Amino acid sequence: MSQADFKNEDVPPKADDLSAWYTAVTLRAELVSYSPVRGCVVLRPYGFGLWENLQKELDARIKATGHENAYFPLLIPEHLLMKEAEHVEGFAPEVAWVTHGGQEKLTERLAIRPTSEVIIGVMYAQWIQSHRDLPVLINQWANVLRWEKATRPFLRTMEFLWQEGHTAHATAQEAHEETIRMLGVYEDFARNVAALPVYSGLKSASERFPGALETYSIEALMPDGKALQTGTSHDLGQNFAKAYDITFTDSDQQIKHVHTTSWGMSWRMLGAVIMMHGDDRGLRLPPRLAPFEAVFVPIIKGEDRAAVRRSHELASELKAAGFRVRVDDRDYSPGWKYSEWEVRGVPVRIEVGPKDLEKDSVMLVRRDKSKGEDGQKTPVPISSLSSRLREELDDVQRALFDRALTFLSTHTIATENQQRFFELCKTRAGMIDIPWCDRTQCEQEVKAQTGATTRNVRELGRAGAVCVACGEPARVQAYFAQSY
Ligand SMILES: [Zn+2]
Repeated sequence: MSQADFKNEDVPPKADDLSAWYTAVTLRAELVSYSPVRGCVVLRPYGFGLWENLQKELDARIKATGHENAYFPLLIPEHLLMKEAEHVEGFAPEVAWVTHGGQEKLTERLAIRPTSEVIIGVMYAQWIQSHRDLPVLINQWANVLRWEKATRPFLRTMEFLWQEGHTAHATAQEAHEETIRMLGVYEDFARNVAALPVYSGLKSASERFPGALETYSIEALMPDGKALQTGTSHDLGQNFAKAYDITFTDSDQQIKHVHTTSWGMSWRMLGAVIMMHGDDRGLRLPPRLAPFEAVFVPIIKGEDRAAVRRSHELASELKAAGFRVRVDDRDYSPGWKYSEWEVRGVPVRIEVGPKDLEKDSVMLVRRDKSKGEDGQKTPVPISSLSSRLREELDDVQRALFDRALTFLSTHTIATENQQRFFELCKTRAGMIDIPWCDRTQCEQEVKAQTGATTRNVRELGRAGAVCVACGEPARVQAYFAQSY
């Protein structure tokens, strides 16, 4: 097997089997490795680079909306976890417990956090005394653990990375506004950083976070017609405040419970990015998330290493101008490197050959375009490299979003025909948009027959409509789809 043959061979065509393609790509692109720990993956440096860019972009948005970062313990004493009944019931099947410290059996078991409402609620009860202490706006970047059976990199793993925001407010209105604000932050991140169009809306009762009054989500549609929830924002009302006794003295001297929210986005978002944008050649990363926006591939002729030296000079200039670039000067053939960086989805490749250098130019090659497509390869004078690279990267970002938006639009299907509705849900035709009765029993029947559930709901488009699934009066407009 030659080096060139080796590179793409373990990435099967995306359209044939999305699941096999997805797993192959995450491994081949060196985002993750499976680990000896069941259900847990290793985030390799390239995958961590992707995560760091998500973190950087989202963290800036979280801080711009007035939040601060803090860090809370990984372990939660059992008696504390048991206080909010719905929360306990919802998470009990997924909690892992620490029972021993060294050789000694603990007198009280410690839960490994599946989420941090509890430990943070306990601390807020200590910190908050007066209306002057409110609002409390804190975010935590952390790992959490949920005892899952199946494992797929990014989409479902036992241990995963995320951020979880937890806020406390004096009034229900403020808590509601916060919930909606953070849903908006997630939607903005999805569209403008991850290049993913999403539907944002309210979750149905059965899909709600355990212990929440209301859960909102952003939902992306994957190429196999299944939806992927990539961010949630919960209005917890006073449920956790009452369970953990988080009270304050209001300006009218009355002692009141606070209203809390929580909201999270995990590395699942990266799973959506991989699945939505990738193609048969591997990943196609949006420039704003890509660990490297461009990679230099110097073309070495015999002993002449001028192209390597020049690539490093140009890379230094681009780095100084704020670009994330890398020079691949390893001892592999240019063809091998082209294919390597294609699999890894680097948005732009910069080829630097002796002939290009004679003309004081380099070749820009865009990853998002097919081979031979107009604009895929462009010779660029070195004097305008920085400005041209910026333009091309912006255009790649836009093109990926536009492609995903076209997919979402053409796979969002409104119907008022019951039989067609069930058929569309069963065949995973996309986001099926119907007037819906908002009844759990109706949703369960649709799920039993088709595997689809509501993804989220919004205001009814037309008064007087009936539920397409069951014929009862409709109360909301809902997207139904099978989901990850
Ligand atoms: Zn119904």
